[in-house]
Amino acid sequence: MADDADWAGEITDQEVASILKARAQDQQQQTRALPPSRELCLDCDDPIEDYRKRTIPGVQRCAECEDWHQREKTIRAHQGR
Ligand SMILES: [Zn+2]
Repeated sequence: MADDADWAGEITDQEVASILKARAQDQQQQTRALPPSRELCLDCDDPIEDYRKRTIPGVQRCAECEDWHQREKTIRAHQGR
């Protein structure tokens, strides 16, 4: 019985270590996937509206340019490129 408990304890320690490591990597990837919100629009350098920075994490463009950007993406998707 004592042997079983020791064995189980060893596995648990290893599992805990690998879970903690995987979790740390996940958190790093999540922060990397989300760039900080920009102060100025990527396309026209106008200040990005405060409400957009608050509501959209990692916002890159002002409302107008984002609108154009989405339209371009849609057009490209329809052209198959
Ligand atoms: Zn813009």
